[in-house]
Amino acid sequence: MPKFIFVTGGVVSSVGKGITTASLGRILKSRGVSVSIQKLDPYLNVDPGTMSPYQHGEVFVTSDGAETDLDLGHYERFIDQDLTHAASVTSGRIYLSVLERERRGDYLGGTIQAVPHLTNEIKQRIYGAAEAAQCEVLICEVGGTVGDIEGESFIEAIRQIRHEQARNTVLSVHVTFLPWVGATGELKTKPTQHSVRELRSKGIQPDVILTRADHPVPRDILDKVALFCDVDPRAVIPMETVATIYEVPLLLEERGLGDYVLERLGLEGARDLAEWREMVDRLKHPAGVVEVAVVGKYVELHDAYLSVKESLAHAGIANNVEVDIRWVHAETLESRDASAVLDGVHGVIVPGGFGERGWEGKIQAATYARTHRIPYLGLCLGMQVMVTEFARNVCGMGGANTTEIDPESPYPVISLLEEQLGIKDKGGTMRLGAYPCTLIENSLAARAYDSNLVFERHRHRWEFNNKYKAQLEAAGLGVSGTSPDGSLVEISEITGHPFMLGTQFHPELQSRPNRPHPLFRDFVAAAVRRERGVESPLLAEPVAGLA
Ligand code: GLN
Repeated sequence: MPKFIFVTGGVVSSVGKGITTASLGRILKSRGVSVSIQKLDPYLNVDPGTMSPYQHGEVFVTSDGAETDLDLGHYERFIDQDLTHAASVTSGRIYLSVLERERRGDYLGGTIQAVPHLTNEIKQRIYGAAEAAQCEVLICEVGGTVGDIEGESFIEAIRQIRHEQARNTVLSVHVTFLPWVGATGELKTKPTQHSVRELRSKGIQPDVILTRADHPVPRDILDKVALFCDVDPRAVIPMETVATIYEVPLLLEERGLGDYVLERLGLEGARDLAEWREMVDRLKHPAGVVEVAVVGKYVELHDAYLSVKESLAHAGIANNVEVDIRWVHAETLESRDASAVLDGVHGVIVPGGFGERGWEGKIQAATYARTHRIPYLGLCLGMQVMVTEFARNVCGMGGANTTEIDPESPYPVISLLEEQLGIKDKGGTMRLGAYPCTLIENSLAARAYDSNLVFERHRHRWEFNNKYKAQLEAAGLGVSGTSPDGSLVEISEITGHPFMLGTQFHPELQSRPNRPHPLFRDFVAAAVRRERGVESPLLAEPVAGLA
């Protein structure tokens, strides 16, 4: 039977509980303990797929096609393992399956209650995730903070698991925040005490307390937390804000979290974060800087493009540079000249998106990147932008568009598959999760991947319209990746441009700090060449086999 670590939060949200959970995963994995991570989200949406990025930031998509909380992205990046739909559970999902069973009559006329019906459903998913992952330790993070009404059933289910399992197999980690009172110049422990009291009132005594703070935490404060919260002083660990999130595993390991957790769970394994430390060192000591514009709709909210931001950081590590992001509101490009807004950037990214707002601004960004030979990476919608721009301005297809924006376009270069196949009934289902993609030899893409078959994650409805493929190819828009049967365009690139490439999938979902995504890595390499004023002789010539 696997062991369990439950991570709850107290005091306030947004103190980095997700990063802490992911870091704990990295610490255990580095010590040779096999782990998996699960997120329990208290909200009533069945999944975050329908939520606005303003609510919950990016929607992270797993290989098996689950639309999940962005914390799963942190987990995958920190433990360098793919997770599945089993790793993401919301209250909405729990209610839905209990109510579906009730409608089917599975409860044989019984009264359905939060305890035991919701809690049994939750426990089944926790045990199920551990079993499916075949891991030694399942780390399970509860979203929100203790005391939230929606989170009650999760906390109760955890209490029951603690009760059902042997003493040394379950650990409770509580992440809190120590506010700083400027008037007296001190960190306060009272909110932590209250939050632990709340947790205990639900029957859970924390074993470890991680105190997040924006100031160094003196030993007497930690001792005070230990005394008032009845926790081993060794297990009260301060977590001050650090320069990069990837430093958190190093900080926590240094402060004894790994030793303590292993000891309590009766596991063994020596510290080994040498490789991770080297990666963090490279990140913190870059040899140069490049500036990349990310042109999107929600740029004031960086969490909406979290995986893109992280992928750029990973690609920076690989290229030994810091990647500075210039967040550009796509709409500003509709009223202001692109040369003013994008002046001096060494690369342009148009990330994924839905809907009309900012679409024409993104087209302007693509025109600017193409005509000024600035490296461009289009992610999903960003590829659709690139293809549309090319059709309009190079192939003379005035009014070319995606039917998402203009259903009446004379040149619907991006359209729904149903439209392409002449199917009337538009189901409009999303293509979600990993699909295979074969690469055309000698393309930028094939060189980057150094492979001819890859699997990449999708989240979209619209597709490249094959009707225009030959015409676009003849003008220099190469198709460098397709579904294995050739029917769906997955990657396209502009021949003769130093680096202008778009993907119908989201490569940012598979980038890891220790294993940057090849397309991001090569895009940043092209940005570095741009910054140094050298175009790659390799890439400036037309790619054989394309166009
Ligand atoms: N809106 C586009 C589509 O559905 C692109 C989606 C995306 O960028 N994830 O095809």
